[in-house]
Amino acid sequence: MDTIGALLYNIELPELVGQYTELTYQNGVYRGACPIHGGSRTSSLCVWDSHYYCHACGATGNAIQFYSDMENLPFYQAVELLCEKYNISLDDENYQKQKSVFKENALIANRYHRNVDKALDYLKEKRGFNDKMIEEFQLGYDEGGFLNVSAAGIVIPIQDNYGRIVGFTKRAIGGDSKTPKYKNTTENDVFHKRQLLFNYHRAIKLIKGTNTLHLVEGYMDVISAHQQGIACIGYMGASLTKDQIKLLYDLQILHNGNITFVLSVDNPDVDETGKKMIVKMRESIIKYAPDLNVCCTVYPT
Ligand SMILES: [Zn+2]
Repeated sequence: MDTIGALLYNIELPELVGQYTELTYQNGVYRGACPIHGGSRTSSLCVWDSHYYCHACGATGNAIQFYSDMENLPFYQAVELLCEKYNISLDDENYQKQKSVFKENALIANRYHRNVDKALDYLKEKRGFNDKMIEEFQLGYDEGGFLNVSAAGIVIPIQDNYGRIVGFTKRAIGGDSKTPKYKNTTENDVFHKRQLLFNYHRAIKLIKGTNTLHLVEGYMDVISAHQQGIACIGYMGASLTKDQIKLLYDLQILHNGNITFVLSVDNPDVDETGKKMIVKMRESIIKYAPDLNVCCTVYPT
């Protein structure tokens, strides 16, 4: 078992949460006031198995996310302090290797983010993004060369469910007709596109208002929706993969079935690709999670 797996296996979440708030146990669920947003309602935070969910602030996750939220710590600092607390060895080659990849990705994101001033015309005027989104998504600018795309473009960090930067996508804003619009990091030890949903870790906190999660294809559409306070994630490809459907199904269970996934595709009446996409997605959903509460909406073209 790797370090993070061993840590999650060894922590009894109700015991850890119980160090911050008084929990009472009923029908398989521990409930208490949520110490993350500091609420006083004693039933807003639910803890069961290895997960928590707050009905008031939408905070959710496992022991590492809880500890990192409570102590206001970045992911790896939270992991290492918890390892100390629960006596888990950090002497794990894989863990150290992964950590250095994430550290390197954070530095890359920073490097391009420092240049973002040169892309403000595009991001603000053309896309309508405000400063808060540009900061929150750590959008950056590359003059050319990043991800082997010679045209200039916007660098968008892609994060995993813990908020760690696993890879990047580059949206070319210069270049000729042969320049691909988007180019992603190639698959590697930490970047597995098929297992990721763009903006997942931020969007899940916005579901509580409407019990709706929007799924769109494009990164820029996700950021626009997020700016409006809409829970929105990007599926980053032509269809939903088995792993992505599983992530959605887990969310549905977390919300006791009280959630609707709204899938947006380009108008299938005029767009052949959109039509094929709907058919393919429907097949995948029926195959992997036929009970998924999903409905489809069509973009005007
Ligand atoms: Zn809360």
